[in-house]
Amino acid sequence: MADLFIKNGIVLTLNETREILDDGGVVITDREIEAVGPTDQLEAEYDADQTIDASGHAVLPGFIDAHVHVSDILVRGTGTSRELYDWIQNVKRPAVNEMTDEDHEIAAALFSQEAIQSGITTFVENASGAADGYPESVIERKFAAYEAAGMRNVYAYAFADTEPDPEHATFMEHFRRKEPEVTHVSPSETLTDTDEILADIESLIQTYHGSAAGRQSVWPAPYWTEIVTPEALLGAYELAEKYDVMTTTHTAESVDDEARRSQSSIEYLDNVGYLGERTLLGHCVVLSERDIRKLALTDTKIANNLKTNLALGDGIAPVPQLINYGVTVAVATDNTTANNAANMLSNMAFADLVQKGLHQDATIMTAEKVIEMATIDAARAIGREDDLGSIEPGKLADLVMIDLDYPHLTPNLHTPSTIVYQTQGFEVDTVICNGEIILEDRTVHGIDEEYPELRSDAATAAEAISERAGLTSIQQRPWQSRYK
Ligand SMILES: [Zn+2]
Repeated sequence: MADLFIKNGIVLTLNETREILDDGGVVITDREIEAVGPTDQLEAEYDADQTIDASGHAVLPGFIDAHVHVSDILVRGTGTSRELYDWIQNVKRPAVNEMTDEDHEIAAALFSQEAIQSGITTFVENASGAADGYPESVIERKFAAYEAAGMRNVYAYAFADTEPDPEHATFMEHFRRKEPEVTHVSPSETLTDTDEILADIESLIQTYHGSAAGRQSVWPAPYWTEIVTPEALLGAYELAEKYDVMTTTHTAESVDDEARRSQSSIEYLDNVGYLGERTLLGHCVVLSERDIRKLALTDTKIANNLKTNLALGDGIAPVPQLINYGVTVAVATDNTTANNAANMLSNMAFADLVQKGLHQDATIMTAEKVIEMATIDAARAIGREDDLGSIEPGKLADLVMIDLDYPHLTPNLHTPSTIVYQTQGFEVDTVICNGEIILEDRTVHGIDEEYPELRSDAATAAEAISERAGLTSIQQRPWQSRYK
């Protein structure tokens, strides 16, 4: 007896041949997909405890968000129209540095609810405080929220173990002076010892990796190429190998970063020995052709944080060129304060349309490719292509159902195009993760039960954080029709 039978859906399998079943079914037993095929055939072969009629719905693999910052969600909308380091120095770091353990849990619950409602079943959280990782008390609270939500999370423990070079420090100081009322955090206040932090992360992997019925993972995540030592980068890669996980860092995000360097970030990481199949690099906006070749050669993966890169004026990663070289690229929502949403479907549309406009070439991306970048390619990008990213027997049962019965989705003549160009995000009505229904009728029951006053709690927490971090004047800025 199977646990769950989803029938009559348009099933986008994302299997090897990218098969789409027009009247398809999926049989789920325990945590896994047991069978996929035409509804009538499966109906004759299987009995299930529960059946979901997916008529009028597209059924896809759960979306995988390859790069996220969760806690920042409580100050989103603050400091818009600021460039990267202005935003980091004057909004992000001051805010997260003032958050209590409870604030982090509220942020995690809010993020989970929003992310699941847009079809995200797995996310990689680049978990960084001011520059160091959060204490274990914060991790426990966040994991409790993710467990309540029922989604799959990778906790990429971020840290810094060296100061930025003096030129960069001057650059950051320049931005801090702009906002004297903000409670700033100097990067040197949050440095960690290389050996200690790697030992701490190893112990976290031993404690949490595979917890919550296998849904939770831990990775080592040197925060950003500029503020981690070669020893930390190598140590992180070695830990990833030892525990069969991945490692991730922020790389080549802005022209300013790259212009200052005597060698490109990619060349540097290559020389250090950090590039490789277990490395997922966030951003990679500023790349040379040579950098792209090195990424391809080493099978290094990329998280494309396009909406955040656009919002901060960083630029547009050369995704079509990366794909042409065979580099695996995943769509990611990145920072909830810069993006400012965890809406996967919106990010998928941007990932396609922005490249077409930039290159003045409508053939350069396709709806099918961006769906791959949110599912099977993203699974590969996080080292989970064997058990996530497609609807195939033996894979973990992570599925999204999109209701197509809306005026703006009618007629549905080419399902991949309908999903990428016409949805707005709210059409996701059912989500299954690890074989469990975690979104039903747009409701994340696990979060509603554990956090019944979530939105008012989040609003109250946000106000207090802003007060403590000195962000109130930024939030109450006068109307700015243009930048001064
Ligand atoms: Zn990031």
